[in-house]
Amino acid sequence: MKKIKDEPQGQREKNPPGRLKNGNPPCDLRSLPRCQAIAKSTGKQCGNPAMKGKRVCYIHGGKSTGPKTKEGLERSRRANWKHGQYSEEARARRRYITELLRQSRELAERWTDKLGETKYEGIIE
Ligand SMILES: [Zn+2]
Repeated sequence: MKKIKDEPQGQREKNPPGRLKNGNPPCDLRSLPRCQAIAKSTGKQCGNPAMKGKRVCYIHGGKSTGPKTKEGLERSRRANWKHGQYSEEARARRRYITELLRQSRELAERWTDKLGETKYEGIIE
């Protein structure tokens, strides 16, 4: 039986272990921080080495520095807009309504105390 080499042909000679292309210093690639992006298709972490100073690889936006212009930032904000339920305006509206309800309950309680009985059953819980 012919013995099969356990190395891919011609690959090891060109790039011996521990050496990197383009004059980069050798290091243990397994020790590098990993890309934190979660793949949509598999639901698993990407796992590629993260770019220097970033938490994601070049594929998952490590090269991007994000929008800089006012228009770009606004476009980015609007890109995943679904219903606006968590927009600043909607949240402020909810806060306002909650505060109104709290004040009405407080007022109703004060009136109830003065009258000595509850006349608002069924209206305010
Ligand atoms: Zn990645």
